[in-house]
Amino acid sequence: MVRVRFAPSPTGNLHIGGGRTALFNWLYARAKGGKFILRIEDTDKVRSKQEYVDEILNSLKWLGFAWDEIYYQSQRFNIYTDFAQRLLKEGKAYTEKSPEREGEAIIFKVLPQQIKVDDLIRKEIKFDAALIKDQVLIKSDGTPTYNFACVVDDAMMEITHVIRGDDHISNTPKQVLLYQALGFKLPKFAHLPLIMGIDGGRLSKRTGATAISDYRKLGYLPQALVNYLLLLSWAPGNNQELIDTKEAIKLFDLTDVNKTAATFDLKKLGWINNQYLKSEDSERLADQIIPMLIEKGYIKQDNFDRNYIVSLVKLFQPRMSVVNDFPDWADFFFIEEPSIDPIAAEKYLNKDLSREFKLLLERIKALKNFDVISIEESFRSLVSELGIEAKVLIHPLRVALTGKTVGPGLFETMYCLGSERICKRLGKFIK
Ligand code: GLU
Repeated sequence: MVRVRFAPSPTGNLHIGGGRTALFNWLYARAKGGKFILRIEDTDKVRSKQEYVDEILNSLKWLGFAWDEIYYQSQRFNIYTDFAQRLLKEGKAYTEKSPEREGEAIIFKVLPQQIKVDDLIRKEIKFDAALIKDQVLIKSDGTPTYNFACVVDDAMMEITHVIRGDDHISNTPKQVLLYQALGFKLPKFAHLPLIMGIDGGRLSKRTGATAISDYRKLGYLPQALVNYLLLLSWAPGNNQELIDTKEAIKLFDLTDVNKTAATFDLKKLGWINNQYLKSEDSERLADQIIPMLIEKGYIKQDNFDRNYIVSLVKLFQPRMSVVNDFPDWADFFFIEEPSIDPIAAEKYLNKDLSREFKLLLERIKALKNFDVISIEESFRSLVSELGIEAKVLIHPLRVALTGKTVGPGLFETMYCLGSERICKRLGKFIK
């Protein structure tokens, strides 16, 4: 049975790279009917923080990666010490007194040899152990080192596949030596390619190296982020880009993961998020958006028309790349007198359109049914009677009503604004 693990150190938030590692482990477990194990590597008592543990667990839950088992290394120190003692007894390790404090470290003797690792993604990787120094197993303060605790746990937890980022490749030969010394069976290794920024450098804050929880706060949907993380290092084929985890579980295998570095492209992520937003349940989106509107002071906590908000969400949904676009894009629905972008005003409202606006207002006021189709009809018939092109009036109309040059369909927007607000806003441009 396949048993994989995701082993974050709670010394910081879960970032994009960690999210991708978690995804590939989780996905592989699900694809193979195996187990996904979460191991919190909290051996560093100073740098590990409960708040990071919470943050990591919440992010994993938000992404949808449910784990089957969870372990904390801080609760397993005696296990590591026992195995280190065994290596001492067998003469494979030695102790060294700490110059600074009480206690002694246990150190593993590295013997010169060639090490070969069959990586499922990178294929064969060779290392020369002559270049590897003796390895500390247990520090003089009694805490185990990462490489040692990792090997002991991977063996004890019967991990079959170690799937982790390329940045750990230099640890792998050290771990292989420990497996051999302890007489443990080697797992299979799969090192995921590096994720680079769009600028070709290491992923940085500027190029997207932010916490998964930040993407959540920015208004990305978890399904979209997971889809994008998946595409970073794997593709279902046939140029397919949109794939949910259900389908990926059927198609995924580790041997198909890309060897080459991935580039993290926020634009692409935005595109994918937009694709998911389009088909997202509007009620659910409204649940996410309503608190933002309350915070902005656009609506009052216990006094707003939920159905109306949902209809606005539907209006903007096809265009949003993140949920958080909504409050800014839709501000003119909530502000009495939306400010008009000066460049847009200069471009579209510098000519006197009193006559056109006035005629349009008369028709709108006279509408028996105030609905999108009737609004559009009254507009179209007016421009044809005036013998002008629709765009001559459409852009100024949009700017006058919304303050912006872009937005959802104008007639849908007008419908949602209602005739009273249309009259008020156009009225200001009628001399
Ligand atoms: N705690 C290590 C990390 O966060 C785990 C590496 C591994 O998967 O072996 O990078």
